Amino acid sequence: MSARIAVLPGDGIGPEIVAEAGKVLACLQQDFGLVAEIEQAAVGGAGYDAAGDPLPEATLALCREADAILFGAIGGPAYDGLERELRPEKGLLRLRSELGLFSNLRPAILYPQLAEASSLKRELVAGLDLMIVRELTGGIYFGQPRGIRELDSGEREGFNTLVYAEHEIERIARSACEIAMLREGKLCSVDKANVLEVSELWREVVSAVAADYPGIELSHLYVDNASMQLVRAPKQFDVMVTSNMFGDILSDTAAMLTGSIGMLPSASLDADGKGMYEPIHGSAPDIAGEGLANPLATILSLAMLMRYSLGQGELAQRIEAAVGQVLDQGLRTADIAAAGEAVATAVMGDAVVAALRAQT
Ligand code: NAD
Repeated sequence: MSARIAVLPGDGIGPEIVAEAGKVLACLQQDFGLVAEIEQAAVGGAGYDAAGDPLPEATLALCREADAILFGAIGGPAYDGLERELRPEKGLLRLRSELGLFSNLRPAILYPQLAEASSLKRELVAGLDLMIVRELTGGIYFGQPRGIRELDSGEREGFNTLVYAEHEIERIARSACEIAMLREGKLCSVDKANVLEVSELWREVVSAVAADYPGIELSHLYVDNASMQLVRAPKQFDVMVTSNMFGDILSDTAAMLTGSIGMLPSASLDADGKGMYEPIHGSAPDIAGEGLANPLATILSLAMLMRYSLGQGELAQRIEAAVGQVLDQGLRTADIAAAGEAVATAVMGDAVVAALRAQT
């Protein structure tokens, strides 16, 4: 059966890095038997330029039809003055919520060849391969009531609500268990059950879901301890699952363990495994159009797309191995290179394709 992949390059370096992932995709079709229909559409500032909307109707329709979406990056100074609803970021947020993408996968992978880029000691991080599964559409960022109100005393008070219904916890726990089953099977649930009732329920529901997966080894950590363990001994973790706000913070910490923003992919999945795949970085307007962007985060996002939405784990491994090979060959874009030895975006993309072809 043919897979349908929507490709949304976006703004800034988006088109440059997505073009390199496109070369990899074409190679998978030509040399590795991937059967896929690929269609491109405008989003973000490009969507606004084309249709006056950061998420044009036609783009949303294409994404609804697709099995998976490969997303570049959006945003740029040209759009910063627009009213909030028309800004590029709004297109991305709307796309996530329209498609019900509640499960955010943020891997922190540190290729041993790049261990010097981390602020931690080499032996603590070399070979790190950790996945954080963050709940993306609930919790304190969305809970009602929220606001700033004036008390009788005249003093103002800000308030938000941390709320999770059982079904929201259950589906993110299930998503995390499925992912852990594709990896080492070690799942660590992060909460604050010693203080928060929401976390008590979280722990209870996660434990019940994990009991359905005999291959899963479940543990629990309080979030304060988890953040400490992440910088003390990050390689102890395989998969971590947590709520929206805790995941927001922990996934940025984990990303920075690797020290290289241009290397990290991400995914946001719905309940059926349909997903949107994107590098964690933004549109980098400071280097757009100069051939300086690192395309590897986007190429690794394509690997995740193969694994999690198309069930093509072998192709995912091939892409990841090809990335490892180009790093072994010493190829580096400017963001991961020592001064003076950087290659351009397209050279890096071509090298990944050549490494892939060499596997045939
Ligand atoms: P950014 O991630 O775009 O850039 C931060 C720094 O990292 C810059 O110096 C940039 O040159 C560098 N960088 C980022 N990606 C790189 C890559 N692949 N290769 C080499 N260097 C890279 O963050 P920012 O500067 O805060 O934001 C720029 C724009 O991107 C803003 O409009 C922001 O709203 C948008 N943004 C979009 C997303 C998204 O599309 N998901 C995420 C974050 C920011």
